[in-house]
Amino acid sequence: MPVGIVVQKYGGTSVADPERIRAVAERIVAAKEAGNDVVVVVSAMGATTDELVDLAHQVCARPAPREMDMLLTAGERISIALLCMALIDRGQEAVSLTGSQAGIITDTTHGKARIVDVRPFRIHEEVVAGRVVVVAGFQGVSTDKDITTLGRGGSDTSAVAVAAAVGAEVCEIYTDVDGVYTADPRLVPDARKLAEVTYEEMLELAGSGARVLQVRSVEFARNHGVTVHVRSSFNSGPGTRVVEEDKAMENAIISGLAHDTSEAKITVHGVPDRPGIAARIFQELADNAVNVDMIVQNTSSDGRTDVSFTLPTDDLVTGKAVIEAVCAEIGAAGFDVEDDIAKISLVGAGMKTNPGVAAAMFTVLADNGVNIEMISTSTIRISCVIKAADLEIALRAVHARFGLDGSDAEVVFG
Ligand code: ADP
Ligand code: ASP
Ligand code: MG
Repeated sequence: MPVGIVVQKYGGTSVADPERIRAVAERIVAAKEAGNDVVVVVSAMGATTDELVDLAHQVCARPAPREMDMLLTAGERISIALLCMALIDRGQEAVSLTGSQAGIITDTTHGKARIVDVRPFRIHEEVVAGRVVVVAGFQGVSTDKDITTLGRGGSDTSAVAVAAAVGAEVCEIYTDVDGVYTADPRLVPDARKLAEVTYEEMLELAGSGARVLQVRSVEFARNHGVTVHVRSSFNSGPGTRVVEEDKAMENAIISGLAHDTSEAKITVHGVPDRPGIAARIFQELADNAVNVDMIVQNTSSDGRTDVSFTLPTDDLVTGKAVIEAVCAEIGAAGFDVEDDIAKISLVGAGMKTNPGVAAAMFTVLADNGVNIEMISTSTIRISCVIKAADLEIALRAVHARFGLDGSDAEVVFG
């Protein structure tokens, strides 16, 4: 394989219309002319994936997972073909490959398949022949030879996996912001761009809702030592590098804040407080593929207790059905659902050695009249569930309290 392979991934906003596709083609040609071999991974144009999801739900309430994957992968097929047409028109030889053609092999879990192997033979051949290879993100072929998707935001993971497989020098993630910020710049205007962030911090941020990188892409990058550079497709400034901890230049106590509004909370009331009951509830949820996030059990009185947990709103229909059945079985009093919640997470490697971060976060939330409904922590993260209506005020207050505010100019494009 020739040296100097660069993998570039372009997200949906970056290829949202013909003009942007041509602009992306220019950028790719510039990288090629600078002497690199370029392998590109693209997402579907703009809101195509959302539109396809809507379309499926207009045909039936619960689309068959295999057919849903077949449908959704069509979005990326459109953008790879159009981008190659623009490149060829520009005089650059290029070839589009579906995930399957590119050798991206996954397990058989439709809708959130995991990449188990990348066999980049075809990519190699095309690169050696001097072509730019444009791979469809978000998709692969399963060990059962079915077409799969990697979960929303999955093109990031496709890009990192391809970068690892071809031994790329860097995996550049081009998006509609200039890099990874101390908070989502759409909600926190004073957010500051991070020059570097560690894999561990990025894992916590992405896992807590910062959708700028799909969490699996960060896991993959860390496990395979891929250097990821998140940058804007609308300008050529430096973005954010995701690096090993000891390489991080500034070791800030707090690196950023993430938020997530995609979860709901279920509280089961009057649960008999005896061994085996929690196991019963959560085993049943797990057996039905409901991904539970936070769990809180109250202290019991009269041998009964309340158990609350959060789950993705996408899993709410299944979760409610499971809990209804379990409630009857274990003799619980009933349950209620809150879907107007948000989770705010403060992340920073320095938390390990700095006591008082949690107390400071809770104090600033209280001072701003924000009630905390649930709390969970890891060694480098503190998460609080609050009312969705309090999200912006909470984010801005905590952001300011930890000195994260900066003065970057316009940062969001598209
Ligand atoms: P793409 O289509 O390029 O994959 P995404 O919409 O998936 O783009 O991710 C980029 C978006 O992530 C940004 O527009 C921004 O609103 C959001 N975001 C959330 N948290 C952060 C953060 N900490 N830094 C930068 N962007 C963030
Ligand atoms: N098109 C897919 C999505 O919208 C994958 C991606 O954009 O990364 O989730
Ligand atoms: Mg994305």
